[in-house]
Amino acid sequence: MADVQPRRPRVVVLGGGFAGIGAARALKGADVDVVVVDKNNFHTFQPLLYQVATDLLETTAVGHALRDLFHEQPNVTVHQATATGIDLDAREVRFEEIEPLRYDYLVLGLGAVVTFFGTEGAAGHAFPMYTLADAERLRRHVLERWEAADRDPSLVADGALDVVVVGGGPTGVESVGALAELYREILTKDFPRVRPEDAKLTIVEAGPTLFSMFKPKLQEYTRRTLEDRGVEVVVGDAVSSVAPTRVTLKSGRVLNAHTLVWGAGLQANPIVASLGLELERGHRVRVESDLTVPEHPEVFAVGDIAWIAESPESVLPQLGSVALQSGACAGENVARLVGGKATKPFEYKDKGTMATIGRGAAVVQFRHGRTMKGKAAFLAWGAVHLALLSTGEDRAKAMVDWTWAGFSHERPGRITVPTDDRDEVGVGA
Ligand SMILES: Cc1cc2nc3c(=O)[nH]c(=O)nc-3n(C[C@H](O)[C@H](O)[C@H](O)COP(=O)(O)OP(=O)(O)OC[C@H]3O[C@@H](n4cnc5c(N)ncnc54)[C@H](O)[C@@H]3O)c2cc1C
Repeated sequence: MADVQPRRPRVVVLGGGFAGIGAARALKGADVDVVVVDKNNFHTFQPLLYQVATDLLETTAVGHALRDLFHEQPNVTVHQATATGIDLDAREVRFEEIEPLRYDYLVLGLGAVVTFFGTEGAAGHAFPMYTLADAERLRRHVLERWEAADRDPSLVADGALDVVVVGGGPTGVESVGALAELYREILTKDFPRVRPEDAKLTIVEAGPTLFSMFKPKLQEYTRRTLEDRGVEVVVGDAVSSVAPTRVTLKSGRVLNAHTLVWGAGLQANPIVASLGLELERGHRVRVESDLTVPEHPEVFAVGDIAWIAESPESVLPQLGSVALQSGACAGENVARLVGGKATKPFEYKDKGTMATIGRGAAVVQFRHGRTMKGKAAFLAWGAVHLALLSTGEDRAKAMVDWTWAGFSHERPGRITVPTDDRDEVGVGA
């Protein structure tokens, strides 16, 4: 009788973000078959998206081929496919493009999606900052508006160059800070006929302050730094509707602006609705201390999709480092279960909460209250984020681009290449 090899347990990892990569990498050497599935064939480094949108980094420094990350890991297979539903009882995931996959263990790392909270016109006209496609779309739109205003200067008064950024959290502040640098140091030189005061940048936050998660002195520093860089800071007001060239605030104020960047809200990937689980705020999946989903010891939820509570009062934020570490812990726990051991609880190693405001300006707050701001904080931010980049090659690319931009104040990527050359030469006409 022929030997029948027992099938190795199959671990399906949904999502190739920080959380999914952390999980798959932690299974290196484990006696399992790992299948990583993502709707894109690349990993996106979200913390640097705003640098793509403002021409500081190229897309390839922020998106990295997923398959490349697993060359040294023979137990991993990668598929590009979109998950459409999960049957927790049947232990099966359905996809748009491939046959359903059955699993012995499932790691849910599908991240979050933008939510516009029903704001009128936002879905059609706002520019969110959550994917590489979003960043590229914003980059092209901004450059296109400057070229349009150059051809027809009357557009300047109509707000063609003005940008409203919604949300006073890290995404909003980092985006408006980077736009301020691009506007004041580059575009006003590219387009010398435009006076800096004719290209307005405004950040709008509904709450009483920017960066509500930081201490008041860091909030004040952030506000001052942005204002010094020519940004108007509006707090205690919210966007009520968005049209292609106008933004209306709840207070009734109407801003002429052809660009509205949305950095205001996220919710967990909508696929969680198919799970039949009770969801927490932001539709996040509550997990046990070992990151398993209640009643499903074979399913782990990690990263932005998960509600990871260290205590009833303290829920971990949706951050790259939380995603990477929780993913790694889930992978280690799967390996432990396969090896007949009990799982271990997740312990987050907090390196501090940090955000940039622009070149040479950042804020850092450590768990036990110590804070940093200015250049030292900017260097700390750079070091932590370089460490999060997925490969040495990406780190080298980012270093070169940042250093070059730091010395030269240049943004080499500010060209727009037509996406379909065939239209231009009339192929098929
Ligand atoms: C603009 C911005 C700035 C940020 N700045 C910072 C920062 O400075 N520091 C920091 O620590 N964190 C920052 N964050 C947060 C950090 O990026 C996230 O917490 C982290 O990316 C979450 O990782 P994740 O793996 O859970 O999800 P994601 O990184 O979102 O990965 C989810 C993956 O799932 C895939 N996917 C989604 N739906 C499907 C589907 N149906 N089928 C298949 N695949 C799917 C996606 O393509 C994606 O690759 C920032 C986020 C944004 C948006």
